[in-house]
Formats: sequence, C-alpha cells, structure tokens
Amino acid sequence: MLQEHGQREVFCGLAAIVWLHRKIQDAFFLVVGSRTCAHLIQSAAGVMIFAEPRFATAILDERDLAGLADCHDELDRVVAQLLARRPDIGTLFLVGSCPSEVLRLDLDKAAERLSAAHQGRVRVLSFSGSGLDTTFTQGEDTCLEALVANLPAAPADDSAWLVVGTLAETIEDQFARLFAELGIGPVRFLPPRRAADLPPVGPRTRFLLAQPYLGATARALIARGATHVPALFPLGIEGTREWLRAAAVAAGVDMDRFERVIAAPVARAEQGLARYRDWLAGKRISFLPDSQLEIPVARFLSRECGMEPIEIGVPYLDRQAMAGELPLVPDRVRLVEGQDLDTQLDRVRAARPDLTVCGLGLANPLEAEGLRTKWSIELVFTPIQGFDQVGDLAELFARPLIRQARLVA
Ligand code: SF4
Repeated sequence: MLQEHGQREVFCGLAAIVWLHRKIQDAFFLVVGSRTCAHLIQSAAGVMIFAEPRFATAILDERDLAGLADCHDELDRVVAQLLARRPDIGTLFLVGSCPSEVLRLDLDKAAERLSAAHQGRVRVLSFSGSGLDTTFTQGEDTCLEALVANLPAAPADDSAWLVVGTLAETIEDQFARLFAELGIGPVRFLPPRRAADLPPVGPRTRFLLAQPYLGATARALIARGATHVPALFPLGIEGTREWLRAAAVAAGVDMDRFERVIAAPVARAEQGLARYRDWLAGKRISFLPDSQLEIPVARFLSRECGMEPIEIGVPYLDRQAMAGELPLVPDRVRLVEGQDLDTQLDRVRAARPDLTVCGLGLANPLEAEGLRTKWSIELVFTPIQGFDQVGDLAELFARPLIRQARLVA
C-alpha cells in the first residue's frame, strides 16, 4: 500500500449538508463560514431554491475580525433572526468551516449558549464541515457524532439495533422489512427522519454501519456502551448478504431461515446485475481518493461484475471499518491512502483505464483526454445499498461505457 501527501482535490464536509438536510426533515443547517462556503452550499444544494430551504450561511468575514466577541454577537443575532422567521425549526446545527475567523470560534460552546438562550424552543448542536483535513463524506461523520452525544439513554431492558449512516428512505424500508422477516429487532436508524425522534442508546444496543466513513460516530456509540457488529458494507449481493448475515449471527437467527428470507431478494438482485455484467466484465477501473466508498465499491465491481481494479485511492484508510473488506481487495491492486494529485493523474494517464472514478473537478479534464469517468459523488446521492439496488449500482458504472459504445457505433 502506498501513502501519498500532496495536493488534494475533494469537496469539503459542507457537501454532506446536501443529503443530511433531505434526510433529517426537521433540522436546519446554519453554516458558519465565509462567502466561499455560502457559494459552495448554494451551488451544491441549489436545487432547493423552489422549496423553503433548510440551510443557510452566517457569513463571518473581515468585518468581524476585529474581535471574537463580535463574531459571537453576530452569530447570536443571526440565530435569533432565523428562529423568529422559522418557528418550525426544532433542531439547529451550527456547521463549522475552515476560514481562520471561524476556526477561532468555539462552536460547541456557542451551541450550548444558544441552546440555553432558546431553551425549550430549539436544540442547537454543532459539527465541523471544514475542508482542512477531511473529505466530503466526513461531514456526515461529524454530524452523526454530534447527534450521538445527544441520544437519550436506553432503558436497561432495551436491546434494539441501530443502523448507522444515511440511507434513502426506500432502502431503510427494505432493510426494516428484511430485519422483521428475520425476527431481528427493534431496528432503528441513525440519522432518524426527524431529529426530534433520536433513537436511544445503551449497553444493550448493537449497531451496524451502513456507510464506511463513520469512524468517529462508531467510536462515540461505543463510548456510550453500544456494541459494533462488524460486517462488509451492504453494497452488492455479497456485501448485503454478509451485512445482514452478521446481524443474523449476532441475533442467533437460524441460518435456514436466513437463507429463506434472502432468497427472493437475491434472485431479483442477480437479475438486475445480469443486465450490466457483460458491459463491465474485463474492464479496467481506477479510483481516485474521494468518497471513502472506494474499497467496498471496488470489491463489488471486481468480485461480482468481473471488473479489474488497477488502483484504489482512499482519502484515509480506516482499518477498523475496512477490516472485512481489505482481505477481499485483489492482490494485484495498488491501494493508495491520501492524495498527491499530479502523481495520481500521471498514473491514470499511463494506465488509461476504461473508467476512472473521481471528483467532479477532475472528470471533465480527464474526459477531454479521452478517458471515461464516473463522478464519485453520485455514490452518495444515488440509492445503491441493498439487494434491490444492485442493478442500479452496476448501471452507474456501465452507463459511461454504454454511452461510449453508442458514440463509437
Ligand atoms: Fe471552502 Fe473551507 Fe468553506 Fe469548504 S469550509 S467551502 S473548503 S472555505
């Protein structure tokens, strides 16, 4: 495995607000940042322009550099204005960013102060979306970590399960049905659809990670007494089967029952996958480090679709989260942690893979050089987990290859 340090090309954690605000429907995200942050969040989430948005930016620019007290006063004023205008806000997240004037603010303290000032009216929490040393999916990790600190304590006899990581509601519903058919439950989801419905946590809580970029959240849950049930991530037939099987084994579910319950969804998944497998088999693929989903996605593409990963880049390697996935990475693949953009691009140009998975900013230049690309951010905006989405996951990667074949024909 190679470790690289150098220029990085990734979105910052503010991008996570785009999917978090859709998921947690009674929460408001107030970015405490600069005009750059405001531009990013408005262009990334601009599709919400027709709805009453549930995100905004409190811009703390040079005008506030005179003193920290000014920044706090400014923040208090913006929050008071916002709450007066939006009585529907039940949970307010202050989202930190990386400009120096914001880094000097203690947003945890500000959240405590504002919670006390608006007691009974709104719960104020804070997390960091700073782009200094994170990748965009870590915005969800820091947000859920903040939520974990506020989860109610579970009653002593509550032995519920938690599925941790944002999933599309249709996928949550599919998983909830499968858990119920397996006799595993109650199963709750973090984040919840409403921040007012935070699931309880305690020493008898067991949790499964649905997303691979939630190391800080997992550690916070363990610190609250919960037990992590390690598993592959629920991507592809193998990943979903092993993810559910880990829960079934921990819950003592009879394996004949397990096979019976998953038989029909697996058959549907195989059908969905069959439509795209021929397009993908034998094609070479490289991953530039971006979403933290690279390793489980590469596992699916190589083991179930017959693709040949050449290089898998990850922003950082969480060995604990990846413990089940790493042994399934093919031996010949170059695994790279971190980013040195120019050298990685040189390797892509030299290898000329059939498909390169990368961030938005790199896709167009690579396409201009005749290289086919897939935006990695689509992996967090597209429902891809679970058996019924296996065909859609394969299609994401087949689509650029099909388009190219049509253009050539
Ligand atoms: Fe840019 Fe930092 Fe704001 Fe992200 S948090 S938009 S990286 S200034």
